Amino acid sequence: MRTYGIIINGKLEQTAKTKPVKNPATNEIVGHMPLAATEDLDRAVTAAEAAYQKWRLVPDSARAAACTAIADVIEQNLEEIAQIVTKEQGKPLNGIGSRFEIGGAVAWSRNVAGLELPVEIIDDNPDAPVTLHRKPVGVVGSITPWNWPISIAIWHILPAIRAGNAVVIKPSPNTPLSTLRLVELINEVLMPGLLNAVTGENSLGAAMTNHPGIAKITFTGSTATGIKVMSSAADSLKRLTLELGGNDAGIVLPDADPKAIVEKLFWGAFINNGQTCAALKRLYVHDSIYDEVCRELTAFAQKVITGNGQNEDSDLGPLQNEMQYGIVSRYVDEAIAKGGRVLTGGAPTHGDGYFYPVTLVADIDHGCDLVDKEQFGPALPIIRYSDLDDVVAKANATTYGLGGSVWSSDLVKAREIAGRLECGTVWINAHGLLRPDTPFSGVKQSGIGVQFGVEGLRELTTIQSVVG
Ligand code: NAD
Repeated sequence: MRTYGIIINGKLEQTAKTKPVKNPATNEIVGHMPLAATEDLDRAVTAAEAAYQKWRLVPDSARAAACTAIADVIEQNLEEIAQIVTKEQGKPLNGIGSRFEIGGAVAWSRNVAGLELPVEIIDDNPDAPVTLHRKPVGVVGSITPWNWPISIAIWHILPAIRAGNAVVIKPSPNTPLSTLRLVELINEVLMPGLLNAVTGENSLGAAMTNHPGIAKITFTGSTATGIKVMSSAADSLKRLTLELGGNDAGIVLPDADPKAIVEKLFWGAFINNGQTCAALKRLYVHDSIYDEVCRELTAFAQKVITGNGQNEDSDLGPLQNEMQYGIVSRYVDEAIAKGGRVLTGGAPTHGDGYFYPVTLVADIDHGCDLVDKEQFGPALPIIRYSDLDDVVAKANATTYGLGGSVWSSDLVKAREIAGRLECGTVWINAHGLLRPDTPFSGVKQSGIGVQFGVEGLRELTTIQSVVG
């Protein structure tokens, strides 16, 4: 079994204490996570600060080249990282699984390399010019969740490095190993200290959020933790980007073609077993095609294979952890108790691992947790509607506002409904497609700030106006 270590100033280090990390499909130990002490975090921040002081002065072209070098090293090690992700996270190697995740990280890194923040001219008067410059923030603390450990690490690290910052990353204690290996590999092509990784329990994340040497926190995780991060970061007035939870609604209009949309509807909801921030978590279907959409979704769902992610033919793996397994089980049980009609699935699979079958629950409405809260698992409530204003109001009746979707053959109508949804991204005839060039942000309690594209890159900078 491979030995994993924290990475500080380009060096792999062992910690006195470690903790086993288990495969959620089998409960077998797949590696040991280092438990970093707060002194290790301090050293990581010091190393990052020293690297930042050099990195902020290097030419922009060198920063772009570093992002390309990162893409190359990930690509060369794609299979190794994918195997680690599958073992610790549970998702399958194939399909929209770990190979897809690492391949996406390569493409993402290349895209970030090409982003630019040129000097803006506010006044071109040659005697009194005014220009606006984007400067790096300093040391960025990155805190990531367990659902897409590599994608989200890349979303945090790459724009930070591209904009001239240094990074200390702390992955989720549920999926720390793939990030440690990723950071180790990236360190082969970066200046020492520019990217450091520490792992530990949640308290290590809390220690980052009030660390005086960290200038900005980029956090992806639940809204409940995001609130704690914001509160803790206030003492040192840190910059924040918070990408938090969601309860995305999808609205199927009466003119949609159920057969044509079923595959995208299904994967919009069940990507990564529903353990995706911007997955479709509530499906509203017009009364006139409700039964047909339910039939098509059920038929599609019953062909999908849930199994150990290491089996090449699995489409979906287990849930990542016991807590999430418990949440999904409870929400589905409550939905059934309140009259929900199970079309497929509906009860946990017994045996080793946190396996829960793909579950569709029809004839259900607001007033139960499966609809009102973020289930973050493979159970989709399908809600019947007949009035468009009513369904828009229901879709917006949540404290979340991450994504949403409208499904229709009439693009003009779909765009009109899209404009009425209170969320950061709306997809038409798709759900959850993230692009490196398209800003992504949550409204309401789904987050603060923006990631991706030039808008996202700007968040890793502060402004300096030069007058004269
Ligand atoms: P979580 O909030 O439990 O943990 C996220 C990270 O925060 C982990 O690294 C954890 O160790 C750390 N942490 C825990 N307590 C902390 C504290 N007090 N201070 C600082 N850090 C702390 O989230 P999770 O269960 O790992 O992930 C699932 C959640 O993440 C879901 O709500 C999902 O919607 C959300 N998510 C959002 C996005 C997005 O882009 N909006 C993307 C992926 C996941």
